[in-house]
Amino acid sequence: TYIIAEPCVDVMDKACVEECPVDCIYEGGRMLYIQPDECVDCGACEPVCPVEAIFYEDDVPDEWEPYVSANADFFDDL
Ligand code: SF4
Repeated sequence: TYIIAEPCVDVMDKACVEECPVDCIYEGGRMLYIQPDECVDCGACEPVCPVEAIFYEDDVPDEWEPYVSANADFFDDL
């Protein structure tokens, strides 16, 4: 899955939402989240993010590793 990290916080540009073919990017209170079970790893969202907040899960910078579980946990809480 792809995940959204800290640069999205309080930005929520949503260019990614327009690109996602399976509509698996959802709006939270302060950032957007990718539903990991719905993401088809197409990569379409990553290049359109103006703040480079989107990463393939294996490529998330160490400092933002907590966002991998944060994306999944967001949906557990719904
Ligand atoms: Fe949607 Fe593709 Fe991005 Fe996954 S990688 S969130 S399916 S646009």
